[in-house]
Amino acid sequence: MIFNPKIECMERDEMRKLQSERLIKTVKTCYEKSKFYRRKMNELGITPDDIKSIDDISKLPFTTKHDLRDEYPFGLQVVPPTEVVRIHASSGTTGKPVVDTYTKNDLDMWAEGVARVMAAGGVGPGDTVQVSYGYGLFTGGLGAHDGAIKLGACQLPTSAGNTEKQIMLMQDFRSNVLACTPSYAMRLAEAIHNSDKVSIENMHLRCGFFGAEPWTEGMRRELEEKLRIKAYDIYGLTEMCGPGVGGECECQNGTHLWEDMFYPEIINPETLEPVAPGEFGELVFTSLCKEAMPILRYRTRDLTRLIYDKCECGRTAVRMDRILGRSDDMMIVRGVNVFPSQIEACLTEFPVFQPYYFITVDRVNNEDTFDIDVELKPEFFHEDPQQQMPHIKPLFDRIVSMVGIKPNIHILPPYGIERSMGKAKHVLDKRNFKD
Ligand SMILES: [Zn+2]
Repeated sequence: MIFNPKIECMERDEMRKLQSERLIKTVKTCYEKSKFYRRKMNELGITPDDIKSIDDISKLPFTTKHDLRDEYPFGLQVVPPTEVVRIHASSGTTGKPVVDTYTKNDLDMWAEGVARVMAAGGVGPGDTVQVSYGYGLFTGGLGAHDGAIKLGACQLPTSAGNTEKQIMLMQDFRSNVLACTPSYAMRLAEAIHNSDKVSIENMHLRCGFFGAEPWTEGMRRELEEKLRIKAYDIYGLTEMCGPGVGGECECQNGTHLWEDMFYPEIINPETLEPVAPGEFGELVFTSLCKEAMPILRYRTRDLTRLIYDKCECGRTAVRMDRILGRSDDMMIVRGVNVFPSQIEACLTEFPVFQPYYFITVDRVNNEDTFDIDVELKPEFFHEDPQQQMPHIKPLFDRIVSMVGIKPNIHILPPYGIERSMGKAKHVLDKRNFKD
């Protein structure tokens, strides 16, 4: 189902007109109400008069995560506090968190973004959406919650954690839609299969909306098979609102971006120039409707490309290819660029392995070490290391051919790798703690 056909299927030149109108308004507000953006635009020698259409967007300054931290907490807010009805913040493992504030209209726009994604999966009245994203400052829980309400579906706000109880409720309340991070979905699937109280045969799950961390096609296959669902990607970031900046349609050939709200560009992260259409680079967003905290040209660090062909589903909204990784997540090991998602992609090609892994990078005697902990599925695990060799060799070869460096692979006993309730942590780079 298409939630908002007028927008999602709008002719491209009409969309450009809408984007132009909204960009002009956003830039004017930023210039008049935000000291930060006025200063940045003054530095570039531009005023709102220089922005006559969406084609002028590349004249505007970029915004980085660093800028958002400098302006913590409310430096980028352009409305009085009386208009703000909610505040979210990213977890911020280092330093200050990234803050987003919302007016009533902002919450409404956000809910629509999520509703468009869930509608593509056929969610509506009569469905029970189990929201197993964390509720709280993290945008996942309340974002999915408000989107499902917008569709008239029933909410089951279980939040993340309490896994045993979650799966009991999932069965007893006949939840048929699941929303959470892909790593938590995997943990739920595992708990269902190991439980003697519930069984996947008695579950009613039909589809799931998974996001907040990059995931692979292999992970999709695992989740679809284990949970007997259709698994959709829902994309978002706190800086734009949260989940629901875009999502997959029923064709699952890319993630449609709601470009009437968030204008996407792809730039070369080195030169900061736009790349040719269809080329890979860093994804940049400009908010076109946000009232409380508009953002110009935010550098997401996500590496992907945009597809402008009309999708078979009928939507004209631009599609984003799978995210290769975050430039933040990229490690340079022995001079080679390595993304954790490449390891996941390799693992999920081999049915004997679980999709869990943990990478440890260190430097010993001036040489980088690259160790990967993996788990065999319990039925393939053997205490005797000799018996494990036939499994390690093909994985080793695959990683060497995909990534280009030789890893040390360690097989841990079943459940040896910590399971995540939110965003999974996959890497420990010990070199960061050395000179
Ligand atoms: Zn589509």
